[in-house]
Amino acid sequence: MERYTYLIVGGGMTGDAAVRGIREVDARGTVGVVSAESHPPYNRPPLTKGLWKGQSEEEIWRGTEAHGGRMHLGRRAVRLDSGERIVTDDRGETYAYEKLLLATGGTPRRLPFGDGRIIYFRNYDDYRRLRDLSERGKRFAVIGGGFIGSEIAAALAMNGKTVVMLFPDEGIGARIFPAGLSRFLNDYYRNKGVDVRPGETAVGFDAAGTGGVVRTQGGGTIEVDGIVAGIGIEPNTDLARAAGLRVENGIVVNELLRTTRPDIFAAGDVANFQNPALGRLRVEHEDNANTMGSVAGRNMAGHSEPYDHLPFFYSDLFDLGYEAVGDFDSRLQTVEDWKEPFREGVVYYLKDGRVRAVLLWNVWEQVEHARRLIADRGPFTAKDLKGRLPA
Ligand code: NAP
Repeated sequence: MERYTYLIVGGGMTGDAAVRGIREVDARGTVGVVSAESHPPYNRPPLTKGLWKGQSEEEIWRGTEAHGGRMHLGRRAVRLDSGERIVTDDRGETYAYEKLLLATGGTPRRLPFGDGRIIYFRNYDDYRRLRDLSERGKRFAVIGGGFIGSEIAAALAMNGKTVVMLFPDEGIGARIFPAGLSRFLNDYYRNKGVDVRPGETAVGFDAAGTGGVVRTQGGGTIEVDGIVAGIGIEPNTDLARAAGLRVENGIVVNELLRTTRPDIFAAGDVANFQNPALGRLRVEHEDNANTMGSVAGRNMAGHSEPYDHLPFFYSDLFDLGYEAVGDFDSRLQTVEDWKEPFREGVVYYLKDGRVRAVLLWNVWEQVEHARRLIADRGPFTAKDLKGRLPA
């Protein structure tokens, strides 16, 4: 049996940030990381962004071992005995801990066809697989119009590929962007050469060689050399649930990131936390992984630091870019304040007189202001918000 002062299940950005957080407080306690991936922790955003624009792969690795984390790679934790404080992996190896962090992330949702042929884009191996396909083939289908779909479609198109995008909504990013902006993005992508097909879904895939044929709901067919899907993730809560921890849209943690067992913490995509301004949230973005991971690490090592950070996220869509803070839902009342329509401006999302989210569209260095606005109880009306943040 391996024995650790601190054991982290999950070798993503959150797990790495936790190792560093622990080391800020405790230089001596032993730290083990059990990770299902066969690679040590790396930065995930470049997989859909920088690596397609010339960033070197060498830059993505986070050097977790140099920060004191002993890696157990290619191991999936399958059992948690919270009474005995023992985790068991899929090869039967056991790990005893004093403090445990669940940073288990999420698993991509899958389609009921195309087994083994569709790349559910999430990790470094998925990146490598798509990169290899893109070096050999030219035609790609991208299923999903969310974060993965929009970023990968742009990445492939920027690398000279022919891309067809299929998704059930009316526009790219329709769940978070106001309808006009989402429709603008459809046209913007089309102008960049992407065949955007809103409201069209894939219903089958017939493999042929290394590629195949996508069948669509309308009876159409699309010949491709590769197919990628980003249709959302499900948080990996099985371990926590089986151990009797409270799970409700993620593993429920308190402000110190403790689960319902005080010696077990959770952070990152999998954690459902309380934000002082917005209430209960589960956030699947980089800033949350990094900041929450490091707070969890410090708290595991004895600090009592509340996680009151409101994470931001960002994306690159060809030459467009944005930063965003809050809890996005395009069904909320939106107040659009454009300096130049759909090119530069701020969108506020209002609910019951409070700002729930702020989208900073090609507007930079305003994230702190946006956070303050969200923390402000208001009440706000559309009139109060126009011109509030400099566009
Ligand atoms: P996502 O952003 O939630 O988008 C899911 C998309 O899939 C939506 O457009 C959804 O359309 C569509 N969809 C759902 N079921 C479908 C189906 N059967 N056929 C076709 N489309 C379907 O999730 P994601 O893009 O898979 O990203 C995964 C995670 O990685 C997310 O948590 C995301 O936050 C994270 N990520 C973040 C960034 C960033 O911060 N920049 C970048 C990449 C990934 P409907 O809305 O119509 O259901």
